[in-house]
Amino acid sequence: MTSKIKPSVQPSMRPRVIARQHRYLTWLSLSLMSFLGLMVLIVYESRWVYPEIQAYFSQTGSLTGQQLATRSRVYLQQAQTELLSDQPELEAFDAALVNIELAYGLFDVHVYRRQYECAEPSLMDMDRLMARLQQREIAPVVAVSELFMPIECLTHIEMSQLDRRGMAINDFSESTRQHNQVLTYSSLLIFVMGLVFWWLHERQLRRTDYATQETFEWMQRAMRDPLTGIGNRSALHQDVLAKKHQSLGLILVDIDFFKQYNDAYGHPQGDTLLRQLATLIGQTFNDEAQLYRLGGDEFAALLLCPDTATLKNYCQQLIKGLHEANFAHPAHPDNKGVTLSVGGSRFVAGEHTFAYAYEAADKALYRVKAAGRDGWQVTEDE
Ligand code: GH3
Ligand code: MG
Repeated sequence: MTSKIKPSVQPSMRPRVIARQHRYLTWLSLSLMSFLGLMVLIVYESRWVYPEIQAYFSQTGSLTGQQLATRSRVYLQQAQTELLSDQPELEAFDAALVNIELAYGLFDVHVYRRQYECAEPSLMDMDRLMARLQQREIAPVVAVSELFMPIECLTHIEMSQLDRRGMAINDFSESTRQHNQVLTYSSLLIFVMGLVFWWLHERQLRRTDYATQETFEWMQRAMRDPLTGIGNRSALHQDVLAKKHQSLGLILVDIDFFKQYNDAYGHPQGDTLLRQLATLIGQTFNDEAQLYRLGGDEFAALLLCPDTATLKNYCQQLIKGLHEANFAHPAHPDNKGVTLSVGGSRFVAGEHTFAYAYEAADKALYRVKAAGRDGWQVTEDE
């Protein structure tokens, strides 16, 4: 026979809900922290990248310088071509002069004078050459050779500007690569830290859950009678406290001549009878009662009981149920099967003390014992 026994301690769902809310809050703050970390990183990167871009474009500005030098050199080379052409000398001088003046205008840049040593003397040479060409007192071949030094200087400027541009681009791409690496590794680090935080948090949560569960199970066990699985005396006290203002019936049940039963069948069989009776009482009350074993061969049942008539009815049902079950008792002095003595009392939880209700039910039980056992009595309301 099995009995459905109502748990006397209900698990509280509130700690779980709080734990879940705490979990979401922690996740939210962790995500926010990661996000802020990334933002700080991006701001840092931006602060670094913008000056680099500016530097790149300022180097690009110098490219104009390189282009000026190139143009200037091309004009000088055209002047050389004019001077060496077959045209009349005067026309060649005029054409060369125009080209040299154009070249001079592009060459005469402050930056070139400041940064390249060859610029100043080359410009002075071009100045002198233009004067001599205007006065027509120079041979074309000599004029051509006079232009080699400025052309050489301009070529040097072009090469130098190209080198600078290459270096600037290399530097820029190298630092971009390095900073990209920093960004990638930092993001990765933040992500891994997030994972570690999450893992630590989950582990802590699992431990807390486990500890709560264990505590709960211990509390449950402490409230149970290990032999029958029903509640013990502590559970009865707790349940009465939890039913404040309710009209209750307390029924005490004691086996008659249980010592003799043990002597006849042995203690293990006595234990079996205790379990069978726990099940029988539960079934008789149709699971409307909460059952307890108070110790030895004494049981208690707690029921909702609006009046004394209901209480009496429950007691009658119990005696009737036991007779029907007809458990054998070979050592019963009255040659009966197992019999019970039942005593009941009614009380309003919170208005009457539990001690009052227990004493009243116990008195009724005592009266049954005194009257020859195998029966029931209730203590009427005073
Ligand atoms: P009465 O009719 O006056 O109640 O007589 P009784 O023999 O039942 O006497 P009482 O209720 O005082 O004795 C209870 C007996 O129950 C004593 C003990 O041997 C037995 N008992 C107590 N606890 C256990 C238990 O866990 N298992 C078994 N098998 N017997 C127990
Ligand atoms: Mg007894």
